[in-house]
Amino acid sequence: VPALSVRDLRKTYDNRVEALKGVSLDVAPGDFFALLGPNGAGKSTLIGIVSSLVNLSAGQVRIFGTDLATRRDDAMRLIGLVPQELNFNMFEKPLDILVNYAGFYGVPRSVAIERAEEELKRAQLWDKAGMMSRTLSGGMKRRLMIARAMMTRPQLLILDEPTAGVDIEIRRGMWKTLREINAAGTTIILTTHYLEEAESLCRNLAIIDHGRIVEQGPMKALLAKL
Ligand code: ADP
Ligand code: ADP
Repeated sequence: VPALSVRDLRKTYDNRVEALKGVSLDVAPGDFFALLGPNGAGKSTLIGIVSSLVNLSAGQVRIFGTDLATRRDDAMRLIGLVPQELNFNMFEKPLDILVNYAGFYGVPRSVAIERAEEELKRAQLWDKAGMMSRTLSGGMKRRLMIARAMMTRPQLLILDEPTAGVDIEIRRGMWKTLREINAAGTTIILTTHYLEEAESLCRNLAIIDHGRIVEQGPMKALLAKL
């Protein structure tokens, strides 16, 4: 079954903006998938619906075959979400942030501590585990967001414009962490408006514009068309 299956998804906001006008797409398990499109295309709306932050107006979403409408909690357990804004407590240490987050989701403390070490290493933050998060660099803070999302061992990691507004050094550091996560088996979907980011990271992509998918397929095939 696909990691994500979206069928004829529509979203009209209360202000009557039609953000999604019938979107269908499939993301295969293990894929690294980009949703590429300009500002206002509907990327955040789509990601918001898949992660249950936004209500859909019509259509169907399945996560590894689990229907979001009827089995929302089961579906949500399969997902890790990396929001755009840094939203951890800057006055806590990375290790505590990760362990507490896992605890909130019911992961036993001993397991959480082991996982936190693994995730901090993968995010190149292990040597910062005991520092005040406020003192981390911008790139480190971003990678901490990724490490935290991995603490529940999601099958599908979703990132909304993870590198918006950050410089190329920071972007490269995040890409390295994401590649390692994907190589270890987690399906990744990210939204971006940088073609170079999609090109560098992703095997498959969909291009969205004005609430519609305008192209969809392997990165290589799409690049050949451009
Ligand atoms: P939902 O149907 O998913 O609950 P709403 O249409 O109720 O979404 O909007 C959610 C919130 O986003 C509202 O508080 C609204 O004021 C705010 N909002 C309105 N317009 C925009 C916009 N163009 N971009 C982002 N947020 C907006
Ligand atoms: P993207 O992530 O590609 O920039 P969005 O999904 O944020 O696109 O927005 C798609 C369209 O929906 C835009 O026209 C935006 O202004 C509108 N929109 C987004 N969020 C809301 C909201 N909460 N309420 C009303 N309109 C919104």
